[in-house]
Amino acid sequence: MQDIDYLRLLETAMEHSFNAVVITTADLDLPGPTIIYVNAAMTCMSGYTREELLGATPRLLQGPKTDRETLDRLRESLNAGESFDAITVNYRKDGSPYDVEWNLSPVRNETGTITHFVSIQRDITSSVEDQRQRQLLSSVLEMSSDSVTITDATGDIEYVNRAFERYTGYTRDAVIGQNPRLLKSGHHSAKFYRNMWNTLINGGTFRDTFLDQTRDGAHRYIEQTISPIKDKQGRIFRYLSVGKDITQRVKHEQELERLANTDILTGLANRLSFDRRLELEMARSQRYQRPLSLIMLDIDHFKPINDTHGHDVGDQVLVHLANVLRENLRMTDLCARWGGEEFIVLVPETAIFQARQLAEKLREAIVATEFPVVGQKISASFGVIEAHHDELMLQVIKRVDLALYQAKAAGRNQVMAVKGGQHAR
Ligand code: GH3
Ligand code: MG
Ligand code: MG
Repeated sequence: MQDIDYLRLLETAMEHSFNAVVITTADLDLPGPTIIYVNAAMTCMSGYTREELLGATPRLLQGPKTDRETLDRLRESLNAGESFDAITVNYRKDGSPYDVEWNLSPVRNETGTITHFVSIQRDITSSVEDQRQRQLLSSVLEMSSDSVTITDATGDIEYVNRAFERYTGYTRDAVIGQNPRLLKSGHHSAKFYRNMWNTLINGGTFRDTFLDQTRDGAHRYIEQTISPIKDKQGRIFRYLSVGKDITQRVKHEQELERLANTDILTGLANRLSFDRRLELEMARSQRYQRPLSLIMLDIDHFKPINDTHGHDVGDQVLVHLANVLRENLRMTDLCARWGGEEFIVLVPETAIFQARQLAEKLREAIVATEFPVVGQKISASFGVIEAHHDELMLQVIKRVDLALYQAKAAGRNQVMAVKGGQHAR
């Protein structure tokens, strides 16, 4: 009596089980095991009625996408009397496939002979589908030419794609668990990063060009978009960063910028870049009440050099002279080619007396230089002034030009320093 109650209990449990249950005979010879029991979940999952399944072989559920290799393994396990776990594709009565995870166990009688197999099955189509979607997304990320980085909420790297490896030279294994600051080039200010974190922590997307340092120490410009990813409660739990390598474009732009600011013949700054820098330095000198001086020079009797040796030789003299100037100036001084054989030097943080000394040094250096292409020495005349704090650029230029004119008029190969309207010597 108790046994019967127990059986009924088991059967009720199986009927209400969420997992499908199938019991077959243990005939391994053809036509193979036949189904002797299915529960409600099995009829629900397969679309077959109980009557259709009972007496049939489980092969009824198989189809073209059912993995043959899994079936071979299954047969081996059954022959060995072992239990078996697998995931494969089965087919409903209407022919539609579903992913099924199943476990199969032999049932033995008192003498140890296998009499039945019990199979518990679960439709995992939706989780397999999720995984497929994930794989699809991840292969899209892998193929992307943009670098993709995912970090956790503390900023530690959880995922990088292949483009990231290509951009940075770091392998995936080397960066997982690291902080992206390993790419820092030292180029950006603390304010830059503060600004970035402020934006991100407040849920905003941060976009800017980062100058990154790759594994081999090279620098790359990456146009980066970083976004926080929030969970259902609105808390940030990941950061996603997508970067595009724009190094070539930036280098190209820098080269154009350099060319636009350089005198092609001498490699010195040209007039355009001199004007820009003068404007900047004058504003700085006015704001901080710092001295700022200008030196303008013009080669003496240059026309006869051209006339005697030709224009090309004249050009070579200009290049040589530019080098003499460069060698005698500091990094903070800006030397530009002002016109044909005229040059101008911007000397920040320098009052007129020191500027006059510098001009004198330049004059002496030129006079002491052999110019082999012409086999003779040359000289230049210099005008020197100090900018007034209320002066306009135009006025400053006009004054230094006038000082140079006075040096020419006074006999050339000399420095004329003019303070205000007066001579400074
Ligand atoms: P000075 O300045 O002492 O009065 O005499 P100068 O002979 O140098 O006279 P000026 O400054 O008026 O003449 C400048 C000459 O420089 C005119 C031209 O033959 C030459 N020149 C100007 N630009 C270039 C250039 O780019 N290349 C060459 N080779 N010569 C130039
Ligand atoms: Mg001249
Ligand atoms: Mg001239």
